[in-house]
Amino acid sequence: MPINTTITTEHELSWQESALCAQAGPEFFFPAPGSSTREAKQLCGACEGRVACLEYALTHDERFGVWGGLSEKERHRLKRTAR
Ligand code: SF4
Repeated sequence: MPINTTITTEHELSWQESALCAQAGPEFFFPAPGSSTREAKQLCGACEGRVACLEYALTHDERFGVWGGLSEKERHRLKRTAR
């Protein structure tokens, strides 16, 4: 889920221009605990910026929500296996 921050560069956030989640509400990508993330992940699957979004989330240690098609638990698992 894209966010704006003053620390990142313009190039680093260029993938947000094609972000499909821009039209969806934040609750879609930040569901309440125990809620399904399936629909958000489906949208990510069709998003051109998915890889860059996931790289951003991993680099910036985004802890909450669906980013690049992965939930927080899935990103945590990916980081652990990549070590
Ligand atoms: S991959 Fe998903 S969370 Fe990331 S920009 Fe695309 S739709 Fe949004």
